[in-house]
Amino acid sequence: MSNLEKTLSIIKPDAVERNLTEQIKSIFLSNGFKILNEKKLQISKNEAEQFYLVHQSKPFYNDLCSYLSSGPIVVMILEKENAIKHNRDLMGATNPKDAKLGTIRKQFGLSIDKNSVHGSDSLENATLEIEFFFKD
Ligand code: UDP
Ligand code: MG
Repeated sequence: MSNLEKTLSIIKPDAVERNLTEQIKSIFLSNGFKILNEKKLQISKNEAEQFYLVHQSKPFYNDLCSYLSSGPIVVMILEKENAIKHNRDLMGATNPKDAKLGTIRKQFGLSIDKNSVHGSDSLENATLEIEFFFKD
């Protein structure tokens, strides 16, 4: 059965700073994702805290929010059959050291915090995260 999904992808500050945006976008396109919408912006620490609210109780929350707001990011709505899982697979494990060959984090990630990309992890979060960045 067809299951066309949308998911939110973020190219994080470490990757935007290294001018990897076009290369990462081309990986999505060559893996069958459509980029329905895209924008480059820098968010405030407060906005990052809202975005990552699920991680509020984690020891890395403060550093994570500082990091995500530290420089420009590129946010995209990706669309594909089963986009949420396919994007997670293409991103690879959170820690680039554990990510499989062929994944974006293996190729570009610098560390567990500077891991180049974000992707929604569920249908519910994809909807919330798309709304967060593209509510207009
Ligand atoms: N993160 C971190 N330290 C950790 C775990 C996660 O800095 O020990 C950061 C990392 O940038 C990660 C983000 O927090 O991408 C969100 O964590 P999550 O477990 O949701 O990983 P993801 O879904 O991004 O793979
Ligand atoms: Mg996550």
